Amino acid sequence: MTTTTDTHCPYCSLQCGMRLAAVDGARTLVVERPAFPVNQGALCGKGQSAAALLGPASRLSTPLVREHGELRAASWDEALDRAARGFAAIRAAHGADAVGVLGGGGLTNEKAYQLGKFARVALGTANIDYNGRFCMSSAAAANRLAFGLDRGLPFPLEDIPRTDCLILVGGNPAETMPPALRYFRELRENGGTLIVIDPRRTRTAEQADIHLQPLPGSDLALALGLLHLLIADGMVDTAFVEARTTGFGQARAAAMAHWPERVERITGVAAARLREVAHRFGRARTGMVLTGRGPEQQSKGTDTVGAWANLCLASGKAGRLYSGYGCLTGQGNGQGGREHGQKADQLPGYRSIEDPAARRHVAHVWGVDPDTLPRSGRSAYELLDSLGEPGPGGVRGLLLMGSNPVVSAPNAGHVTHRLRSLDLLVVSDLVLSETARLADVVLPSTQWAEETGTMTNLEGRVILRQRAVDAPEGVRGDLWLMRELAERLGVKRGFHDDPETVFEELRRASAGGQADYAGISYERIRAEDGVFWPCPADGHPGTPRLFLDAFATTDGRARFAPVTHRPAAEEPDDAYPLHLTTGRVLSQYQSGAQTRRVDALNSAAPGPFVELHPMLARRLGVAEGELLAVTSRRGRAVAPARITEAIRPDTVFMPFHWPGPGRANTLTNPALDPTSKMPEFKICAVRVEAVRTLSGAVEAGQGDPYEGP
Ligand code: SF4
Repeated sequence: MTTTTDTHCPYCSLQCGMRLAAVDGARTLVVERPAFPVNQGALCGKGQSAAALLGPASRLSTPLVREHGELRAASWDEALDRAARGFAAIRAAHGADAVGVLGGGGLTNEKAYQLGKFARVALGTANIDYNGRFCMSSAAAANRLAFGLDRGLPFPLEDIPRTDCLILVGGNPAETMPPALRYFRELRENGGTLIVIDPRRTRTAEQADIHLQPLPGSDLALALGLLHLLIADGMVDTAFVEARTTGFGQARAAAMAHWPERVERITGVAAARLREVAHRFGRARTGMVLTGRGPEQQSKGTDTVGAWANLCLASGKAGRLYSGYGCLTGQGNGQGGREHGQKADQLPGYRSIEDPAARRHVAHVWGVDPDTLPRSGRSAYELLDSLGEPGPGGVRGLLLMGSNPVVSAPNAGHVTHRLRSLDLLVVSDLVLSETARLADVVLPSTQWAEETGTMTNLEGRVILRQRAVDAPEGVRGDLWLMRELAERLGVKRGFHDDPETVFEELRRASAGGQADYAGISYERIRAEDGVFWPCPADGHPGTPRLFLDAFATTDGRARFAPVTHRPAAEEPDDAYPLHLTTGRVLSQYQSGAQTRRVDALNSAAPGPFVELHPMLARRLGVAEGELLAVTSRRGRAVAPARITEAIRPDTVFMPFHWPGPGRANTLTNPALDPTSKMPEFKICAVRVEAVRTLSGAVEAGQGDPYEGP
């Protein structure tokens, strides 16, 4: 007998609709679900092969505890007791903030919400953040500064083909979310212009009308140069600027200092090409700018995104139908994950944890005294960097849920060292990830098709993943384990293991906040293929398009960002003469903890590589497939050369999905954006050398011994 369940993909922020077919309760298949509007049945290879994650082969099926240096199987009671006792002891000895929590952008809204509550109420710590900080926090910060509200896209994807000109900056949906590419194709079929800005000629860039290939880290100057041309060539929509914005004067002054020839020197993009783009965008009736991680994962990411938002505002391409600035979110619940309380400075509903009214509202829903709620804690990298620090302020115990920082954090060798220095590391995961291998307690959790919960996709559409199969024996849900840990920490009420009960509480906690889910229910999501927030009441239709009447600032006007260009935190020099930039490939996902366990994906993308231009390869004397050692001030990574004219000769690229010698994040720079606290994943200075053997190269400089599966 075959039973089918409508659900969504376990991976990226597109959250493609899929149907799972369970055949005789033994085999699960992914089949098409054409009626879901976002992807209309299309799935990339990751989604198509997702059922392989449900097999028992690489799953954790029992809790583990560390004894005499080794992990061994344990009962749930033993593992939970040890975790709770350890956290309580650290709290008693060093204070509540000595226990930290790191969540993930892949957790459901219910888990993210309850994890935020668990940190503040059961542990009493300020130190909770999540790996989504590494994903789109710069866009979130810039969105709030410019428009008063942060939602990845202020319009549904279906609006993209209807705009006249779209600039995509530092995003590669052809590899990260292929089903979304049809929106860009339709845009061109409708006569619109697609402009892609990326230091690499990616599969997405190949489909563009215009591709600009600037130096990594120079996009802020590029945006300022385009604004300069809009002003100089009379393409500013002055009526819009006067009626709906503030702060144009300062933005104008900064842009005027970035004339095309100066920008050409900074970016490497010819002034004539810059003019062509400015005129195409400036003269279009409607237009959009979308950013990916390229401009965002920089130590000036907030300013860079602000500069692109300025371009939309100056040309009147925001707050209007088929126009606006948007961000292509990365992780499956990168959006919802930061709305409901697992971010260091936020409470549910996108409320500030420092706002007295917000504290009162959420404390009332939680049944606690507002004065007991902690204040803002440390951002993700600051938290990881403080692990194991002796003395006041150091974090000695960590609960980690849905994250694998040994592979995904910047300066990953240092972060691994910090994780090892903890008094207690508790990891909840579905597999024995590289980070789980370092833990004192490992809690095996349910995943995706084994549990029900909501996710919020890049459009702000709240969707429902429905349970389709039973979890393996011995595995428990994260909601359940939070409740069990809370009970052991003395908090007997307020934590639930039923996702719909948690969602009902989330609705009340978010009510009146910016990300207002009060009118969204499981029933409505099932009936309507998702509901867009804000949706403040039961009969409210939801809000697919934001800002059409007013922006979400106190005066309803958008704010120009007063930004000017500055270099990356680390520019090439004699010792490290090249730029390194990092990113994803089609068949792997984030730290690879899931996708590296799927045979079909591993065959397509078996390991790391260093992409470099033929001119650079000749200079280094390296041929395709030969080993290269890439060294930064933080460490060394070794991987085979992949030679292509698609990349600038002064830049090398590495994907970041793998641990071990080819781990790209051994090299990356943790310099933080001062506003968003985003690390500078996208740019650092490196030296590249041909090496004969992996072992020789590793001995010469590679730190972390953990190999992937
Ligand atoms: Fe899954 Fe994203 Fe691929 Fe869609 S595009 S199938 S959500 S990984």
